[in-house]
Amino acid sequence: MARPVVAIVGRPNVGKSTIFNRIIGDRLAIVEDMPGVTRDRLYGIGEWLEHQFSVIDTGGIEIDGDDAMLKSIRVQAELAIEEADVIIFMVDGKGGITSSDSEVAELLFRSKKPIVLAVNKIDNIKRQDDIYEFYSLGFGTPFGISGSHGTGIGDLLDEVVQHFPDATDDEYGEDVTRIALIGRPNVGKSSLVNTILGEDRVIVSDVAGTTRDAIDTPFEKDGQKYVVIDTAGMRKRGKVYENTEKYSVMRAMKAIERADVVLVLINGEEGIIEQDKHIAGYAHEAGKAAIFVVNKWDVVDKDEKTMQVFTQKIRDHFLFMSYAPILFLSAKTKQRVHKLLPIVNQVAEQHALRIQTHVLNDVISDAVAINPPPTDKGRRLRINYATQVAVKPPTIVLFVNDPELMHFSYERYLENKVRAAFGFVGTPLRIFTRKKS
Ligand code: GDP
Ligand code: GDP
Repeated sequence: MARPVVAIVGRPNVGKSTIFNRIIGDRLAIVEDMPGVTRDRLYGIGEWLEHQFSVIDTGGIEIDGDDAMLKSIRVQAELAIEEADVIIFMVDGKGGITSSDSEVAELLFRSKKPIVLAVNKIDNIKRQDDIYEFYSLGFGTPFGISGSHGTGIGDLLDEVVQHFPDATDDEYGEDVTRIALIGRPNVGKSSLVNTILGEDRVIVSDVAGTTRDAIDTPFEKDGQKYVVIDTAGMRKRGKVYENTEKYSVMRAMKAIERADVVLVLINGEEGIIEQDKHIAGYAHEAGKAAIFVVNKWDVVDKDEKTMQVFTQKIRDHFLFMSYAPILFLSAKTKQRVHKLLPIVNQVAEQHALRIQTHVLNDVISDAVAINPPPTDKGRRLRINYATQVAVKPPTIVLFVNDPELMHFSYERYLENKVRAAFGFVGTPLRIFTRKKS
C-alpha cells in the first residue's frame, strides 16, 4: 500500500528540520546503520498510531538571484502543494506572524491540499497564549508544539493522519505489475517508456489510468499486464523547481510507493551521482523490487571490460542493494530493451515469493549448524524457528530466546544463506527477530 506523503513547509529557522528529525525519530538511526546510505536525509519514514508515512522537509532549497529567500519559499510551497497528501505549515511562535509567513499562507491557501498549522517554539505553558494570533492565517486551529522539548507533536500528528487519503491499493488488481522508472532528469525515462511501448507484441491500452495526481500507462505483453506509474511526472517540464533534487526525490517517492518494481535509471554516459543513491535508497527502504538500468549505453566508449567495471561501480555505490540485477541498454537504439520485461517479470515474481515454513526452517537450521551464532557475555542466541509472514517484500520473522543477541553481521549471514537457497533476486528481504523461548 502506498504511504501518504507529508511535507513540512515554512520560512527558514522556524524549526522544520528539528521537527522533521523528531518525527522520523529512531528510524533515522536504523537507516544510518545501513552501509551506503548517506547521512544527508531528504525524506524519512514516520509512524504514528497505525499509520506509516513519508515525510519531507522542503526547506533548504537554494535559489540564486534577487529575493532568493522569497523565491525559495515559494518553490517549497509549490513543491508541497503538488506532491504532498498533507502539508504541515510551520511558523515560529516566538516571532509572531512575519511577511514571509503571510506569503506562504497565501500560496497554500489556494491549494486544495489539507493543511495543518504548527506553531513551533511553544516551549512552556506560558507561551501557549502566543498561538492565538496565528488563527488569523486562516488555517483553523494552530497546534502549539516545541521541537526542543518534543511536546505537542502527538496532537499535531493526530490531526495530520486524519487527512490521509483512503487506501488505494487495489487500484489495478493483483495481476498487474506496476513499474516505476526513476532517475534524475534527462536520464532517459520517457524515452525508455516509449521504446518499451513500441516493442513487438506490446498492446497499449487506449485509456490511461488516472489517480488523483498522476497519469499512468497500462499495457500488456504476452498475456502479462503492466502499468507504468506516473508517466505524466516523467514528461513534466519547465517548472523552476523541476531540477531541484527535492522535487525529483519527492516525485520519485510517490511513484515508488505505488510500484511493485522500480527501474533505477543510471546515465551510462555520466556515471553514478549522489542523487541516484538517494532515490535508489528510497526504493530499498520502501521494500520494492528493483533493477538497475544503465541507459545510453550506445554512446559509451566500450571495450570488453567496460561493462564489468561499471557493474563493480554500481555494486560499490549501492552496497545495500546487491540483490538488484543490472541491465545495460539503450532506449535510443533499442539495444537489449527486449530483455527488460522478462527481468521485470522475474523480480516481480521473487518479490511475491512465499517460502513454506518447514523449508525455511531447514535452511536456517543448516546455516546455524555450519556457523553457530557468536556468544555475547556468555549468552548465545538461540533461534527457535523462522516463518515468512509477508510478501512484497518477503518478510521473515525469527523467533529467538533474546532479540538483543542478534547482531547485524549474523543477520546478514542468515540473509545470505536464505538468498543462496531461494534466490529472492531483485527484492529486498526483511528479517525481524521476536522473543519466544
Ligand atoms: P528550519 O530552518 O525551519 O529547518 O529550522 P531549524 O530546525 O534549523 O531550527 C532553527 C533554530 O530554531 C535552531 O536554532 C533550533 O535549535 C531552534 N528551534 C527549533 N525548534 C525549537 C523549539 O521548539 N524551541 C526553541 N526555543 N527553539 C527551537
Ligand atoms: P527523462 O528526463 O529521464 O524522461 O529523459 P528523456 O527520455 O527525455 O531523455 C533525455 C535525452 O536523452 C533526450 O534527448 C533523449 O533523446 C536522450 N536519450 C534517451 N535515451 C537515450 C539513449 O539510450 N541513448 C542516447 N544516446 N540518448 C538517449
